[in-house]
Amino acid sequence: MTLITSDIEVVKQELINGGIVPIPTETVYGLAGNIYSDAALSKIFELKNRPFFNPLIVHIKSIHELQKIASEIPEKALKLASAFWPGPLTLILKKQPEISDIVTAGKDTVAVRVPNHKVALALLENLDFPVAAPSANPFGSISPTSATHVFEYFKGKIPYILEGGNCKKGVESTIIGFVNNEPILYRHGSISIEEIEKIVGKVTLLTLKEDAPDAPGMLAKHYAPNTPIFLTSNLKELIKLHQGKKIGLLLFKAKMEDNNIAVQEILAPNGNLEVATSNLYAALHKLDKCNLDVIIAEIFPAVGLGNTINDRLERATKK
Ligand code: AMP
Ligand code: MG
Repeated sequence: MTLITSDIEVVKQELINGGIVPIPTETVYGLAGNIYSDAALSKIFELKNRPFFNPLIVHIKSIHELQKIASEIPEKALKLASAFWPGPLTLILKKQPEISDIVTAGKDTVAVRVPNHKVALALLENLDFPVAAPSANPFGSISPTSATHVFEYFKGKIPYILEGGNCKKGVESTIIGFVNNEPILYRHGSISIEEIEKIVGKVTLLTLKEDAPDAPGMLAKHYAPNTPIFLTSNLKELIKLHQGKKIGLLLFKAKMEDNNIAVQEILAPNGNLEVATSNLYAALHKLDKCNLDVIIAEIFPAVGLGNTINDRLERATKK
């Protein structure tokens, strides 16, 4: 039995006992466990079927806890933390010796952030340890942005899910690391690069290789629905190519006038990229349930959060 609950005390006890509880954050729901319990950390990997080389993000209650987790904090990291925490920015910093190798996948750095969600913060305030919380989905599948999404993935496998409504940002945090104290983008996320650069100037993009030792877990294929999905800048051409099939479209602003399309999900009729980002995963979950032969998604404008949406769609379409 799995219970969706708003009772923070019950969730707190489960975490203290070494259990794993999905919790809401502003980005996506996370599978939370005590960072100082290797048994709990191992359970997170087991539940998600996550490869051991894919490190976890530590969630702390405030910037004042950062020194317990990170041993070195470059000036630009502090500026970013001050500007965006609580919020969807993850920093990769040199770790304190107490941080388990299971959290960091054996690296000497640790990923850390302060979530901006009332319920998550209320829970963290009540705990005397931070939690590691990767997205609450089986490895490789679409991240959950509601308690119901989590329930569908993990019902029967965990006792509780902490209810926190629909995630406002709807896509994972932006991840920034440092080389020679200068910021590097590890992952596009719900804060755009433009916003980050306003605070610290130029940010270098990490060049991604599958086996890049600095970017464990940045796998090409990720965030994928079960239905085959394609990404295109030429919708009409791709629709024609899949003629006769049951097609679902994932679109930015406007519907296509085409009676042969089974379902159309419009992410932001008003053209706002933040709105589109917050609806992305929910739309993918919906389309994936429609028994379609194929999902066709359009490429988004390569500005602001459009880059984040394109990043996720590209990974979703990888074989
Ligand atoms: P998730 O929790 O699923 O949103 O994924 C967390 C991501 O953060 C991982 O896939 C890693 O790529 C990245 N990450 C976490 N810790 C580190 C680290 N120490 N160094 C580099 N990347 C990290
Ligand atoms: Mg994930």
